[in-house]
Amino acid sequence: MTVSAIVNGVEGLPIAEPGTRSGLVHMQRTGTIDPMQDLIRQLLSGLGEDPEREGLVNTPKRVEKSLTFLTSGYRTDIDEVLNGALFTVDYSEMVIVKDIDFYSLCEHHLLPFFGKCHVAYIPSNRVIGLSKIPRLVDVFSRRLQVQERLTGQIAETIREKIAPLGVAVVMEATHLCMSMRGVEKQNSCAVTSSMLGTFRDVARTRMEFLELLQLSSRAGVLRRGPSTNLECIAEE
Ligand SMILES: [Zn+2]
Repeated sequence: MTVSAIVNGVEGLPIAEPGTRSGLVHMQRTGTIDPMQDLIRQLLSGLGEDPEREGLVNTPKRVEKSLTFLTSGYRTDIDEVLNGALFTVDYSEMVIVKDIDFYSLCEHHLLPFFGKCHVAYIPSNRVIGLSKIPRLVDVFSRRLQVQERLTGQIAETIREKIAPLGVAVVMEATHLCMSMRGVEKQNSCAVTSSMLGTFRDVARTRMEFLELLQLSSRAGVLRRGPSTNLECIAEE
C-alpha cells in the first residue's frame, strides 16, 4: 500500500493522477479532473491551505484562466499581429512610440514585473503601423520573461520585419519579486535597453532618442546592448 493510498483511504489508487487528496476530493465532487487546475490545487495544499474551502474552491479555474492569458504570447503569431501593417515609405526620420504600458511575469519567481516601454526606429524604406508596436510589446510581455530578453526580442523583431537603419528599445520596470519580498531596494526601477544599427553605432542618434525620452540622466546605464544584472535575485 502506498502512502498516497493511505492518505486517500483508497487502497490501490494510482498515485499519478489526480495525485493528491484534494485532487481526489475534487474529482469525486465534480467527476472531472483538469491537470493544470489539479496542480494549482496541489500548490494551495502545499502552501498549507484547504483548496476546498469556499474562497478557494474556484481559484484553480481562475488561476488557470489568468495564467493562460498572461502567457498567451507563446501562442500568438507575430505575423498575424502585424497583419500586413508594414508599409513602404519614403521617410527616414526617427519614429518613436513611448510610454507603452507593459505587464510581464518574471520567469524566476512567476511574479509580475511591469512598467513602460519606449520604442524607436529609423526606417530605411518600411514602417510598421504605429498601433502595432504596443501589440508587439504585448506578445513578448505575455510570456515568462527576464527584462533583458524581453527588451532584446522586441528590438530584434522590429529589425527582422522592416530592416530599419536602427532600432532602440528601452524598458523601465518594477519587479514585484524584488519589492514584495523586500529584496534590496524596494522602489528601485530596472532599466534595460537594446540598441541596434545606428542607435548602437552613432552616439548622437542614441542621445537624441534618450533626450526625447528625458532619460538622458540615466544614459550611463544605457550603453551598448542590453544591460545585465538588473534583474530580480534569481537564486533566491
Ligand atoms: Zn523574479
